[in-house]
Amino acid sequence: MKILIPSDEGLHTAAEALRAGLLVAFPTETVYGLGGDGFNLQALAGIFAAKGRPRFDPLIIHIADLDSLERIAATDSLELAVRDKVHALCACLWPGPLTLILPKQPDVPDLATSGLPTVAVRFPDHRVAQQLIRLSTGAVAAPSANPFGYLSPTKAAHVQEQLGDQVAFIIDGGPCGIGVESTVLDLSAGSPQILRPGGTPRERIEAVIGPVAGPPLEPGSTIHSPGQLKSHYAPRTALTLHSRQEMIHLPYEPSEAYLFFDRWSWDAWVQGLGLMYPAGTSRIRVLSEQGNLAEAAARLFELLHEFDRIGVSVIHAEQVPETGLGLAINDRLTHASCRKALKP
Ligand code: AMP
Ligand code: MG
Repeated sequence: MKILIPSDEGLHTAAEALRAGLLVAFPTETVYGLGGDGFNLQALAGIFAAKGRPRFDPLIIHIADLDSLERIAATDSLELAVRDKVHALCACLWPGPLTLILPKQPDVPDLATSGLPTVAVRFPDHRVAQQLIRLSTGAVAAPSANPFGYLSPTKAAHVQEQLGDQVAFIIDGGPCGIGVESTVLDLSAGSPQILRPGGTPRERIEAVIGPVAGPPLEPGSTIHSPGQLKSHYAPRTALTLHSRQEMIHLPYEPSEAYLFFDRWSWDAWVQGLGLMYPAGTSRIRVLSEQGNLAEAAARLFELLHEFDRIGVSVIHAEQVPETGLGLAINDRLTHASCRKALKP
């Protein structure tokens, strides 16, 4: 494996590797993706093998121009009203962290869609991802570049640690701006339904196409989206999720980690303890001092990665407000909390 910088030369080298059926990890605005040619069976099989991902969990095909949508998805088989919604979403929210589930074109490999009659498509809003897709095959299957079930990578170093020996190249494009995965929206069944909350808040989708259903309240409560398994997006360390009220009343244990939403909660906790200020410890972190949900999302996986790296006995995490990106953050924390401690 070699790390490339996203220069013209680096991107051409990586694109050539993708055309040859090899795997390349690359940055997107959400998280780093593990890319392979979406129409190459060997590359697709390689993605499942590298991640240890079950074959029943389908991949998202990434495109880099609107014309490519029809190559992947058969939108003309949708009812006219739904087709209009698809076009409106593409016009308003693409490129961006929104994945659409649509009827698939017959030649999209079953391996990519896990045999489903539908396919997941996304147009990422990231210069490096777009150039790589355009220079390679125009349709790149790319789940997050992490072993199945583990935290998604938001920096090239995360990919290197977790999957470094499984890819031909990692393109280092710096940290991901959004930091949580895309919102998955199913339009294949008529009425639109969010299967996974993510980087595009529900409010933005509803502003374009009106009310949407979902997401399922309990992780694993439905199997609409095969990837929504109960335990997912999890650090190796056990994580316990707390309401704000619970969090600010927790006792302090030096071997445990504390992840507060904002400065207010942190201050309330410290005051409540009446102890010496436990500052200067990498085990006590705040997602966003000012309570900004976009900043919180961008830092979430990075801080969880860090807790795993330094080694703590348990992570206490505070729920964030359930608006905008808060839905995606709480969803990832809930999934992470379903995992029992698993040391590497
Ligand atoms: P990721 O592993 O982060 O790339 O996430 C892809 C998500 O999209 C997973 O939750 C998949 O289960 C879901 N997904 C992909 N294709 C489909 C599909 N055809 N129908 C429903 N969900 C899908
Ligand atoms: Mg993933």
